Amino acid sequence: MSAAQDRMRNAFGQLLGRTTQHSDACPDCDADLRMVEQYEGVFVMTVLHDATCPAYGGAS
Ligand SMILES: [Zn+2]
Repeated sequence: MSAAQDRMRNAFGQLLGRTTQHSDACPDCDADLRMVEQYEGVFVMTVLHDATCPAYGGAS
């Protein structure tokens, strides 16, 4: 792993696996944010919508 990847892991590692209350995540509900490491060194911020949110499963 490169030094840059190491720094990124340290920066995002604090958020990994935690759910963060974030009222701006979705305009339609009180969504939470969760940081996950999808692949090694690849971090993705996922929006967790409320079950009542129109964006939650609305497209399927
Ligand atoms: Zn939503």
